Amino acid sequence: MNRRELIAALGINGEVLEKLLAEGLPSRDEIAMNFDYDEVMKWRKEYVRLGIDQLLVGATYSNHEVVNAFKCSPQGGMRRSRMKNALVLISDHTGKALYEDRWIGDELHYTGMGQEGDQQLDKSQNKTLATSNETDIRVFLFEVYKEKHYVYAGEVTLAGEPYVKLEADAKGNMRKVYKFPLLLKDKFYAIPEDDWKRATIVREKVVKRLDSTNLEQKAKALSERNKQDQLDDKRDAYRLVRKREFFRDPLIAEYVKDIAQGVCQLCEKNAPFETRGKPFLHAHHIEYLAQGGADSIDNCIALCPNCHARIHELEDKRDKDKLLMKVRERK
Ligand SMILES: [Zn+2]
Repeated sequence: MNRRELIAALGINGEVLEKLLAEGLPSRDEIAMNFDYDEVMKWRKEYVRLGIDQLLVGATYSNHEVVNAFKCSPQGGMRRSRMKNALVLISDHTGKALYEDRWIGDELHYTGMGQEGDQQLDKSQNKTLATSNETDIRVFLFEVYKEKHYVYAGEVTLAGEPYVKLEADAKGNMRKVYKFPLLLKDKFYAIPEDDWKRATIVREKVVKRLDSTNLEQKAKALSERNKQDQLDDKRDAYRLVRKREFFRDPLIAEYVKDIAQGVCQLCEKNAPFETRGKPFLHAHHIEYLAQGGADSIDNCIALCPNCHARIHELEDKRDKDKLLMKVRERK
């Protein structure tokens, strides 16, 4: 097989062949003009696996590591790698967009390429993905919840026909977008808690900045879509998140509530209601457990739900000082 035939058989161009030769693609002569197809395919299979097989599903990688493993572009949501005969999909959940790719059960409904106007299925990487089951191209997925944190989802396959949805673009104009149902080859994994929280914080910031008109328009559009998804049985109800839990014994919590005698230690009002014959109060750790605070009596205090929310929301030093004083007064 000569050079031209190999280029056609691999679906690449001369430039990519040069790069593959530099990576060790075997040729039958010194000047790389003649090739044994079977030998090349055997080499290529191993070459594709190199760097990709080492990735761990659920682990986080940098963009640089993604580019290194797949020899793909460092930019874009759909990155075609001619070197690795792969398509790398980046699913952005960082909270900035109105619509996100959606998980429905264990399928990710991935949004195609094209930021403005109707998306097209027969163009660029939309086409690559749409026809991926008929070609030998392999498709891989990363999810990003926190900027620059690429969580590896593993290899995916197109699980059904791409379908059309009407969604607003960045300027608020409705347009057609394509959704690709993707199925994971590997087992389902959980998103790191910090990444998940970051996406929520960004999302909250974005929506808080909207004026009333924009807020109404976007909320209604999303609400309509969510209702339709429910009717179509395409609802993303939950996502798995990998969470750290700190040890806290109910014994400490119960004791500090008991000695508070139904009175919130911040506002000094009675608990808002009783449950199972006891005043309803929360036990709050003054130095957060997450920040090294101890699960001890002198770091724990009873608050009404209102004040508990206030403490976490405002983190006002005067509130904290008052609680510390209350603890000292107990003795
Ligand atoms: Zn209170």
